Order: sequence, then C-alpha cells, then structure tokens
Amino acid sequence: MSDFLHGFMFEHVAVRGAIVQLDAAWRFMRTLRAYPGVVESLLGEGLAAAALLASTLKRTHGSLLLQMQGDGALQLLLAECSSDYGLRGTARWSDPIPAAPLNELIGTGRCVITLGGNGGARYQGIVPMESNSLAQALEDYMRRSEQLETRMLLHADTEAAVGLLLQRIPDRTDADPDDWNRVQHFAGTVSAKELHELPVPTLLHRLFPQDDVRVFDGRALRFACSCSIQRVQNMLTGLGRSEVEEVLAERGRMEVRCEFCGQLYLFTAEQCRALFS
Ligand SMILES: [Zn+2]
Repeated sequence: MSDFLHGFMFEHVAVRGAIVQLDAAWRFMRTLRAYPGVVESLLGEGLAAAALLASTLKRTHGSLLLQMQGDGALQLLLAECSSDYGLRGTARWSDPIPAAPLNELIGTGRCVITLGGNGGARYQGIVPMESNSLAQALEDYMRRSEQLETRMLLHADTEAAVGLLLQRIPDRTDADPDDWNRVQHFAGTVSAKELHELPVPTLLHRLFPQDDVRVFDGRALRFACSCSIQRVQNMLTGLGRSEVEEVLAERGRMEVRCEFCGQLYLFTAEQCRALFS
C-alpha cells in the first residue's frame, strides 16, 4: 500500500519534480460511485495530477482544485487536493460516453485551476481545453498560465492512479537547455507498472542513472471529503427559500447527496423552513 507524494530535485540540472502513487486510496474512491470506464480513468488521472500540482503550485495554505469543463459528453471533471493532502474528485457526464480523446469528450471547454480558499486568498487560472489527454492539457495550462515548462505523465486503472511531474526551474540561467530535453526524454520511458510498483528512489535512479536526484520526504495522501451538514445548510440557504419550497412541494422533504463522497443529507420540511426563519 502506498498512497504517497514524493517531491524531488536534480542537484546539477535546473529541474524539479514529483511522483504520486495512489493505490488503496484510489481503490476506495472507485467504490464511492459507478463511473463509466473512460470517466473513471480520467478521474484517477485527475486526482494524481491534483496531488502533483499541489506539490508545485500551492503558494499558501489552502486547497488546489482542478476543473475540466465543457459542452461535450464529459461536462465536468473535478479533482481536489486539500491543504493537508486529502483528495476527492467527481465527474458529470451524459450517457452514452464514448472512449474518445479528452478534447472530444470535453468539447468546447476550459481547464481551470483554483488555489487557496479556506478563508485565505484565492487564485484562479483558466486556459482553453484543447489537448487530447489530461497530462497534455495540464502541460499546456502550466505553460500558458504559469509560464512553467512542465512534463506530466499520468496513468490510472482499476488498481492504481499514478503520475510523474517534471518542471524546469525558472530563472536558472546556468541551465543547459539540452538537460531539460534529456530528462524529459528519460522520464517518458517510464511504464505505469514501474510508476506504481517501484520505490521512488529506485525509480528515479533507474530513469536518471547519470544524475544526482535528491528525494524529499513523502507526504501521505488519503481520501477526504469536506462536506458537512453545515455546508449543505449553507448551500440550501444560498439556493433561496422559493427554490427550496418548490422541492418540498414536490417531494415533501429535501435530499442532498454529496457528489464527491456519496453521503446523503436529509432534511424534513420543518428543518428546511427553520433555515429561513
Ligand atoms: Zn462528501
């Protein structure tokens, strides 16, 4: 079992990176909802990517939310990594959903990354969604929104969700451009099986035998959903009395299911009305 995120840094090359290995946490998240295969794979990749991006983008205490949305069969893909590295994700789609490249599934859409929250400052970057894989879409995002050259490898199947991120460290004038090309090339030779099964130091040594790579302590990752009765109550209050009354007139009570973890919140008509009194 290894639900871990490991950052690393090349000692003599202006490149840093991270490796994420999710298995028990990912297998648990797969049980929360029945996703079509193509959506489930993208969700696993999205969760791996959220952890990788959190290791490089998070500037302040807060969460990282990765969002892909569009007018295609895959309407929304959400993956979130909280400030203490809890992961959750969800998707919305219309059936039947074909096994097609990401840009075809999303249609005309965008990739949005939101940082912060938790009462702190928020930062949001948005780029059009034009790539045929999630990894490419995020490389594109990092180039256009953050001006960071990034290489990302992502893979998810029923057993594991894994990923590798490489990033060129900006403002290092001593950097040889060939180094970036070389480490990217070697990283591209890694298999999903190696990413899942090899200990990170072994994997890095195998990929980059001629480089000194410093591996940082791993961060444990886990599934965590931040939904709560308080948040659902706030959502209902935000929805407004007339909308809530409409549901009550139709169903007699209010049922709200968390899209991330599946938790069902039930409110009687009296409990709903008490929110507005
Ligand atoms: Zn939840």
